[in-house]
Amino acid sequence: MTEGSFPLTLRLAGRPVVVVGGGHVATRRVHALVDAGADITVISPTLTARLTELAESGRLTWHERGYADGDLEGAWLVQTATGVPEVDDQVAADAERQQTWCLKGGDPDRATAWVPAVARVDDVMVAVSGGGDAGRAARLRDAVSAALQAGELPLRHRTHHPEGFVALVGGGPGHPDLLTARGRRLLAEADVVVVDRLAPTSVLAELAPDVEVVDVGKKPDHHPVPQEEINRLLVEHARAGRVVVRLKGGDPYVLGRGGEERQACEAAGVPVEVVPGVTSAISVPAAAGIPVTHRGLATGFSVVTGHEELDALPTGGQHTLVLLMGVKRLAETAAELIASGHCGETPAAVVERGFSDTQHTTVGTLRTIAARAEEAGARPPAITVIGDVVRLSPHWDGSS
Ligand code: SAH
Repeated sequence: MTEGSFPLTLRLAGRPVVVVGGGHVATRRVHALVDAGADITVISPTLTARLTELAESGRLTWHERGYADGDLEGAWLVQTATGVPEVDDQVAADAERQQTWCLKGGDPDRATAWVPAVARVDDVMVAVSGGGDAGRAARLRDAVSAALQAGELPLRHRTHHPEGFVALVGGGPGHPDLLTARGRRLLAEADVVVVDRLAPTSVLAELAPDVEVVDVGKKPDHHPVPQEEINRLLVEHARAGRVVVRLKGGDPYVLGRGGEERQACEAAGVPVEVVPGVTSAISVPAAAGIPVTHRGLATGFSVVTGHEELDALPTGGQHTLVLLMGVKRLAETAAELIASGHCGETPAAVVERGFSDTQHTTVGTLRTIAARAEEAGARPPAITVIGDVVRLSPHWDGSS
């Protein structure tokens, strides 16, 4: 069936297309024709409810009768789907005579045109022919669609973003499986990837060799690339017409300065998209078996930086406190919390390197956790969880 055929995409907007038949096949085809903006005439004594709606809303012209000579006059394309073989054959013969392409479902030998199964992702379209087997075409299409969605196919282009584009992509807590499909797809489109230390760097191995990777990884107390410089880099690359992915750890907006990066792009007139990520604030406790809320133990949680002095935090039961960063000043933080009314016996855990092979959890109470973490040699990246929910971790030792 593919032999002697010529794949083609038609621009149907405003052009007359005739559909003969008003059943389910016709309905499905009319939907696609409406999307293409075609000037549609349907010829059929009866219509499905959906086609009636489209006729009533003026999206198509309906001739409430059977097919007649001259109906194809002026049409660029014809679909026949009456379910009556003699009528469909007649339409096909008339179309042939007047040199109009004819879609004729279920009769590949007499049709002069076919509609492929199509996978569309953003501005990309892949059309599949199944060699006459519609199910096979649909399954292939679905596989292509899934691969496109997952960013497994090379989506980079040179023409789409003449003004450049920045995507601030939340990379999740470090494991490549926890990066979103949207994030992966944008990575597959990237010309430049500006990456953090805590981003899932293993996905960088999948990038094409000519994709530029800029490592601006920050280590505690050591900022190799200042934030202003990162902002400047993003804008500069985008202005050169590149697709820039800023791959960040966790979620861009959770203690990640994603807001500043977005503002810098906006101020420079650079189009910017923010792709949420799985934040370490929730996922890393989860990796250690700690739900941040739990019926009877915690009705809410706060996420704060452990980097700075804490004030005005919710106290008392039923609330979980999640500290990002600041492993080094954990002793001070714990003392501040106790001084501000937190119970020293509140369970606490430090979870290092969540989702890595070397993930490690230290448990204790608010009073003991800093000493225990130090004893264990705890180092960043780590998250501290304070609250009764820590008891739910398999690492909980009843800490006394
Ligand atoms: N935007 C990020 C947080 C950035 S601040 C997010 O939403 O996750 C960096 C801090 O995140 C680290 O100091 C550490 O406290 C925490 N962190 C990130 N990934 C982590 C991981 N895999 N294991 C433990 N802590 C992690």
